[in-house]
Amino acid sequence: MNNITNWVFDLDNTLYKAECGLFDKVHILMGKFIEEKLNLASGDAQALRSKYYHQYGTTLRGLMIEHQVNPNEYLDYVHQINYEVVQPNTSLAEILKSLNGKKYIFTNANFEHVEKVLEKLNMTNIFDGCFDISESDYMPKPHKEVYDSFQNKFNLDNSSTAMFEDLHINLKEPHKMGWQTVWVTNNLEYNLNKDVNQQEDIQKIIDEKGYISHVTDDLENFLKNVI
Ligand SMILES: [Mg+2]
Repeated sequence: MNNITNWVFDLDNTLYKAECGLFDKVHILMGKFIEEKLNLASGDAQALRSKYYHQYGTTLRGLMIEHQVNPNEYLDYVHQINYEVVQPNTSLAEILKSLNGKKYIFTNANFEHVEKVLEKLNMTNIFDGCFDISESDYMPKPHKEVYDSFQNKFNLDNSSTAMFEDLHINLKEPHKMGWQTVWVTNNLEYNLNKDVNQQEDIQKIIDEKGYISHVTDDLENFLKNVI
């Protein structure tokens, strides 16, 4: 990856470990939002959350299309969480700072959430740009239009761009664009995809999908080895 000068990072479960549980808290509030909005029992709401996530890329997209939910109301609600579980990661911050070129955040969450997470991680003022879901009219990755909007905003040279993501499906479009792709795996990936539950499945996915250039379960170590 020594030709890379544009470093694009997903935020949640990529720049911090899924195991800290922050995103689990968001999931709980997503379910609660659905419970209240659609007047559903807790189990049914969580099932719908998962169904829309898989069908539309984000639960929000499903709620907007199927139930005309206001995206800002939803995003404000699901991010009313305690960010204390995210610990400062000074060593990763230092490595990110030392990467040659520009660094970007590319997220399906909103700016307010990004700011809070980066503050907890001790990573404010590292990134040259951030693209949040409001900038694509709430269309999430992995839809192609979102990557086009990202490209329009930052105008990156495809051959010198790499993207880091915990959800491998979000790397499909970047691979088509000629970016290098890095799948950052974690346990949550297994929770979200019930059919993936064993370590050896990772290699199977890489072989089958064909859009994953690199894989790591340790972003910090991975970056140390490429700079
Ligand atoms: Mg993520």
